[in-house]
Amino acid sequence: AGDQITIGAMTPHAEVAGHAALAALCPSICKLAANIGDPAVRHRGTIGGSLANNDPAADYPAAALALNARIHTTSREIAADDFFEGMFTTALEEDEIITAISFTAPAKGGYGKFPNPASRYAMAGVFVAKSADGSVRVAVTGASEDGVYRHDGLEAALSADWSASAVDGVEISSDGLLSDLHGNAEYRANLIKVMAKRALG
Ligand SMILES: Cc1cc2nc3c(=O)[nH]c(=O)nc-3n(C[C@H](O)[C@H](O)[C@H](O)COP(=O)(O)OP(=O)(O)OC[C@H]3O[C@@H](n4cnc5c(N)ncnc54)[C@H](O)[C@@H]3O)c2cc1C
Repeated sequence: AGDQITIGAMTPHAEVAGHAALAALCPSICKLAANIGDPAVRHRGTIGGSLANNDPAADYPAAALALNARIHTTSREIAADDFFEGMFTTALEEDEIITAISFTAPAKGGYGKFPNPASRYAMAGVFVAKSADGSVRVAVTGASEDGVYRHDGLEAALSADWSASAVDGVEISSDGLLSDLHGNAEYRANLIKVMAKRALG
């Protein structure tokens, strides 16, 4: 169940942000795209380039992972769970090009992002998605030394109860989170909790 959505790899962020038909099916991904970088970045950057780059602070990898997307390439289809392999690392082979990304529109979805005030990249970004069958996936970007990842504790809590108070009860470990001049691991752990609540709307 649910509408199938396919976005071509060369689609710039601004086009995703302003696509009315897409917004009717999955407003969360349009909102995510609207808050990437600045207008110049949104008119030049592409969804395929963002996924292929897998910057640990990029936004689209969180959407792809939480939406259980499939990455279409010149040679195969790769599930998002198998695609992101760590900071700036993906399952793409040397000469493999992403052609599109597809996913089923979620019954509910949202994205909370705390942007670095200078670069606009995520210091923590949390994408939450609930499918028609009730299963919940939560992906975190910007915070981990290993790049985008799924958060088991938030997934379990939101599966049982899709609410901000359910998020309050989850302990967010700072193990493996980034500590840099922008913020330490404990700060990012707290941001994950706050952004998860914002993602719920
Ligand atoms: C100032 C600034 C702020 C930014 N802020 C954000 C932000 O807030 N959030 C965010 O998510 N991103 C942010 N970005 C990143 C931006 O959104 C782009 O997605 C990113 O720079 C990649 O650009 P591109 O799509 O033009 O890809 P390119 O720069 O052309 O490519 C990036 C890499 O991916 C490869 N590649 C490109 N397309 C494909 C494809 N179809 N198949 C296989 N490999 C491919 C290229 O060979 C290259 O290695 C920011 C960038 C800048 C410069």
